[in-house]
Amino acid sequence: MAWDFETDPEYQAKLDWAADFVRDEVEPLDFAVDGLDIHNPLWQELVLPLQEKVKAQGLWATHLGPELGGPGHGQVKLALLNEILGRGGLGPIVFGCAAPDTGNMEILAHYGTPEQKEKWMNPLLAGKILSAYAMTEPQGGADPTALQTTAVVDGEDWVINGEKWFISNAAEADFLIMFVVTDPDNPPHKRASMLIVPTDTPGLETVRNIGMRLRGNRDASESYLRLTNARVPRANLLGDRGQAFAIAQTRLGGGRVHHAMRTLGNVSRAFDMLCERAISRTTKGELLADKQMIQSMISESWIEMEQFRLLVLRTAWRIDRYQDYKRVRGDIAAVKVAMPKVLNNIASRALQIHGSLGVTTEMPFIDMIVSSYTMGLADGPTEVHKVTLAKKILRDYEPSDDLFPTRHIPKLREKAHARYADVFARHGIDAPVY
Ligand SMILES: Cc1cc2nc3c(=O)[nH]c(=O)nc-3n(C[C@H](O)[C@H](O)[C@H](O)COP(=O)(O)OP(=O)(O)OC[C@H]3O[C@@H](n4cnc5c(N)ncnc54)[C@H](O)[C@@H]3O)c2cc1C
Repeated sequence: MAWDFETDPEYQAKLDWAADFVRDEVEPLDFAVDGLDIHNPLWQELVLPLQEKVKAQGLWATHLGPELGGPGHGQVKLALLNEILGRGGLGPIVFGCAAPDTGNMEILAHYGTPEQKEKWMNPLLAGKILSAYAMTEPQGGADPTALQTTAVVDGEDWVINGEKWFISNAAEADFLIMFVVTDPDNPPHKRASMLIVPTDTPGLETVRNIGMRLRGNRDASESYLRLTNARVPRANLLGDRGQAFAIAQTRLGGGRVHHAMRTLGNVSRAFDMLCERAISRTTKGELLADKQMIQSMISESWIEMEQFRLLVLRTAWRIDRYQDYKRVRGDIAAVKVAMPKVLNNIASRALQIHGSLGVTTEMPFIDMIVSSYTMGLADGPTEVHKVTLAKKILRDYEPSDDLFPTRHIPKLREKAHARYADVFARHGIDAPVY
């Protein structure tokens, strides 16, 4: 198996441009623009011109293939770019590759009718509207078979009733892609369908917006929604009836790995700050960097970060190679499990080494640590992904009825003795027993 994560000189030049652009023009935006209100005049003045610069560089929406207006660079190149974007909050928005829009674009591209693509996907791709993805409900998230929001056909409409919980960006979105139970008598994985629900649909209300303990996060970036006899046209069915589980997998596979790519940017930012502090701050007459316990933190952090980077890049490489998310499901689960742990570990060490300054709102570490917890929940909890991975791994093993697996050892010894008998004879020694 040959992998090569080095990129070609032309793309490297683009990455260099992106790194400077994110540092100089995108990172300051976090302190100038609050929220995602794309219709706000401040947003129009500050963000749109930056998006135009990205488009001129050919780096807009690079997660998409050429058939959808993206450059089709593939996942490895996307990983290299996403690591840069992960360092600043609005980077993915400025580069047209922010969740949840990216996943929604992908499923519209995959399953949308020409009319749905024209009405919802094209303006989403152009950055003119925003979307959200509504699956989780108050009584169940990790287990999608427990979801209860229903949609029934009435004349030319679907009539939707139920509640959706923790829906990112719903407050700013123009439409939702919603997971609804349409065929309750079908087997568990064929009961639900996806509907496109415009956010101005009568009967769709916001119960409340929910905030998270993240600095710079608007008070309420996630929404609790209620639908009471909300009607959308039958033509808003996305994909086939009963296909919601398959569609969700298409969407979430890419989303999880893209999130991990960006997290790498956050991890490397924490690592850089940790190292800089270690060689800048003195205690008892010497640098922190000279203390062995601090050296241990640095080494452990570097190893964890590079292991994670390789896992992310290898997964990206496998997606490019096989073009099949099902085949890389285990790899994506592994990345998803590793991501919160690596961020939590390295951000915690960076916080510790910064002393009192580390816990303040002037530093990003508390934010990173809180993010590590949200990462272990959003797109499915860590435990569920561990189950997926373990099942996938064990599929390649055969059970044995031999209760003493040490049997492998004598067999290997016999093999070695048979193979090297003449060597032992030449040296006049008995075959060794180890
Ligand atoms: C920041 C953030 C953004 C989100 N955005 C969206 C969004 O845009 N749209 C959307 O639909 N949802 C969204 N969610 C919801 C997310 O998908 C759910 O939180 C997730 O699926 C878990 O569901 P739950 O919160 O109901 O937890 P539960 O399903 O109640 O699970 C609680 C805990 O139980 C444990 N657990 C659950 N299942 C198992 C198992 N099989 N084995 C062992 N342990 C288990 C895990 O520790 C888990 O964390 C978001 C969540 C977060 C944190």
